[in-house]
Amino acid sequence: MALAEGAAPSLEPAGDRRVIQVGADQLIRLESVTKVYGSGDAAVVALDHFSLDVAAGELLAVMGPSGSGKSTLMNILGCLDTPTSGRYWFGGDDVSRLNETQLAHVRNRRIGFVFQQFHLLPRLSAWRNVELPLLYRGERDRRALALRALDQVGLGNRVNHRPTQLSGGQQQRVAIARALVTNPDLILADEPTGNLDTAASREVLTILRDLNQQGRTIVIITHDPEVAPVAQRTVVMRDGRLVHRVAA
Ligand code: ADP
Ligand code: MG
Repeated sequence: MALAEGAAPSLEPAGDRRVIQVGADQLIRLESVTKVYGSGDAAVVALDHFSLDVAAGELLAVMGPSGSGKSTLMNILGCLDTPTSGRYWFGGDDVSRLNETQLAHVRNRRIGFVFQQFHLLPRLSAWRNVELPLLYRGERDRRALALRALDQVGLGNRVNHRPTQLSGGQQQRVAIARALVTNPDLILADEPTGNLDTAASREVLTILRDLNQQGRTIVIITHDPEVAPVAQRTVVMRDGRLVHRVAA
């Protein structure tokens, strides 16, 4: 897997989207992003002038207590939601003002998601689960690509197993393969070890670390202190702000 193709810093300019030249190694830039839910007395400031850069090829862990704004950050990074104010540059594109259709496009083309609950379809084999994101794109060679992604997570010998025939760690690895199969610029993982015991957590973190060492950009949002040692950088949130940066 090539680092350069996954980390392309810029899309072509399209429509009224603004394009900036960011460093070739810069994948994400959040510039003073604020997210407010509700209004008036009920307004909640979930992100408060939050700024963050993520380099292409980095593995970043985001930690913080419940209510600190991690899910809000995840939604914005994953193009599931847009900021109330501030800017989000993704690969050189301003994605902070896109409409739902445009956001879905960025999300489907450029971001792979890994969730705490795996979200695998129980009746489908591992490779059928992994090919799903390719089906929506009308991609050919789906089986070959799915098998390759499963191979990358060390499950080349489990491709026909269904989720119930796999351990928790293996199920999460299938989910990682599904995130990987589209060759996204970013893998965004929300508590990927949250449902796993210690051994399975290690198994999953080892895979994520290996993928990062092959050049994948990965952001892990987590409570799990075991994640920090595999990350190049850990940031800690509180009340919608960055309170702490830890270099590995
Ligand atoms: P975390 O994931 O770190 O627990 P969240 O991003 O879920 O934090 O929440 C940050 C703050 O925003 C919390 O005070 C939470 O109650 C509030 N919040 C989150 N989502 C909503 C929403 N849809 N409507 C109103 N308030 C919300
Ligand atoms: Mg949350």
